[in-house]
Amino acid sequence: MAHDDLYRAGIGMTSQRTRERLLERLFEEGIRNLHVLEAMRRTPRHLFVDEALSHRAYEDTALPIGHNQTLSQPYIVARMTELLLGGGSLDKVMEVGTGSGYQTAILAKVVERVFSVERILPLQERAKRVLRDIDVRNVVFRHADGNWGWPQYGPYDAILVTAAPAEIPRELLGQLADGGRLVIPVGEREQHLMLVIRHGDEFTYQQVEPVRFVPLLAGAIHS
Ligand code: SAH
Repeated sequence: MAHDDLYRAGIGMTSQRTRERLLERLFEEGIRNLHVLEAMRRTPRHLFVDEALSHRAYEDTALPIGHNQTLSQPYIVARMTELLLGGGSLDKVMEVGTGSGYQTAILAKVVERVFSVERILPLQERAKRVLRDIDVRNVVFRHADGNWGWPQYGPYDAILVTAAPAEIPRELLGQLADGGRLVIPVGEREQHLMLVIRHGDEFTYQQVEPVRFVPLLAGAIHS
């Protein structure tokens, strides 16, 4: 067996129980959406981190993915996805901050189509590869500064941002469909997860809970 296959098979056997434990923990922490829980059960998080960290992939913690970025804690991924769905179903969803692609994979399993924007090219390329390997096909990727969204395919039924701006970018509000939901961490030293809902030209803002995300930066880079 090739090294990669051995590695995957080994992890596959040892991780089943730890994965189930993570699911129980998410439920205890208040995650109730069955689509979200099922998506998390079926997504091998260890494939989204470096091999050296894979033994920690089913702990409820954030993990480094290089380039000074982190893969979000499973609880946060579940919570943000649950907030985005709001009990309904979604067709077009934009994600800003592909990172490892783990949140992208979860989203792709609970909505129809994902449009994912990332500013760091090597991260995007790795995420693309992993998602292809696990057969996630309803995602398209864009290498760009997500502060400007992805107007070409908008408006979106929902937008999920996984890096924190000081203030909500106007362009993202503008690309939200009527009734659409935006889930975004906002703030600098102190950050809060916000749920924004569009009603025509009006927006309602709900502060959900304190969070810690890497900053939403400006400009796209190649390395
Ligand atoms: N959801 C990711 C979290 C990655 S951390 C995961 O589960 O792995 C946040 C990501 O947002 C990083 O990859 C970072 O490069 C990206 N990011 C930060 N500012 C951005 C911007 N303006 N446009 C697009 N992506 C951005």
